[in-house]
Amino acid sequence: MAEPQAQLADQTRSEAAGEDNLLVARALTKHFAHRGANLARRPTSVVRAVNGVDLDVPRGRTLALVGESGCGKSTTARLLARLLEPTAGQVTFDDTDITHLTRRDMRPFRRRIQMIFQDPYSSLNPRRSAGDIVATPLLVNSEHKPTRADMRRQVRELLELVGLRAEHINRFPHEFSGGQRQRIGIARALALRPSLLIADEPVSALDVSVQAQIVNLLRDLQRELGLTYVIIAHDLSLVRHIADQVAVMYLGKIVEVGSRDEVYENSLHPYTQALMSAAPIPVPPTERRRRTRIVLGGDPPSPIDPPSGCHFHPRCWKAQDICRTQDPPLSRPTSEIHPVACHFPGPPPAGRGPTSYPLALVRDS
Ligand code: SF4
Repeated sequence: MAEPQAQLADQTRSEAAGEDNLLVARALTKHFAHRGANLARRPTSVVRAVNGVDLDVPRGRTLALVGESGCGKSTTARLLARLLEPTAGQVTFDDTDITHLTRRDMRPFRRRIQMIFQDPYSSLNPRRSAGDIVATPLLVNSEHKPTRADMRRQVRELLELVGLRAEHINRFPHEFSGGQRQRIGIARALALRPSLLIADEPVSALDVSVQAQIVNLLRDLQRELGLTYVIIAHDLSLVRHIADQVAVMYLGKIVEVGSRDEVYENSLHPYTQALMSAAPIPVPPTERRRRTRIVLGGDPPSPIDPPSGCHFHPRCWKAQDICRTQDPPLSRPTSEIHPVACHFPGPPPAGRGPTSYPLALVRDS
């Protein structure tokens, strides 16, 4: 299952060795037993949520993992944070293989890898004050338990760092707006001075007007604290503002990965092109009317029974016989081009980039 992307791992390992990667995933795989409705609740099938994912996250940079709901992004995020055990594969953090560390051996890394969750409403305990919520990691994970005065000082500093006021320390979650609650979640994630933040859809539950404020906050914090980010997102306009690298995921696999400009300006995989065409990305008015909207037919297939060959073939307008039988490896078409998993990589219909080809509707057959 993990073989094609493991090939890329071999191919790119020497390149990656030259990079200062804080986080590296190789052939990361997670399968869940699916329990049917039988009386004994025995596993009846396997959900192939993540299949052989390779990722390199350079220190101090932002990698965005994008794709439709259910493609395996959030599972990948939890595997990277070691909140889930992988079925196979490896996660290396700061040159240490953390894949199978015991809970105790994982403790120093837990402090350095923190998560920000999607929903600022459900991720905060409504019965705890903002101060208590932000202080919890300090109490639970600090090597030396801080004094009460020291803890309140640290909490006030953290609240101010994320744009809240020190007097917010005694307020409860229901007294804050959605954006403020997400700021509390970010302050909690920063309490142990992590190196890596993994943010699962950090702004998708917020009003559009607030989203930009949180994105700007994340960017400022990255500059100030030298943080490394993995951002899980389906909103490509958000990703464009914050990502250095973009990995596109479809049905548990990375189908295209490159720098932000490579993926946005020169996407080569039909699925990426469809995602881009649906995103409200600002384009000059002269080009707006000529932008093609690629409408994919059908829903994403089930990860319980993925299609043969290229998993995207039932929805792809370029599919040919080979696509139905052979799974394309994630590889570079030429040494100058970023990796893509497609037998026929190339520019989108009309061949002049996703924001400039004539208005048309492309459907699968
Ligand atoms: Fe489409 Fe074939 Fe490429 Fe898959 S391999 S994305 S079906 S052209």
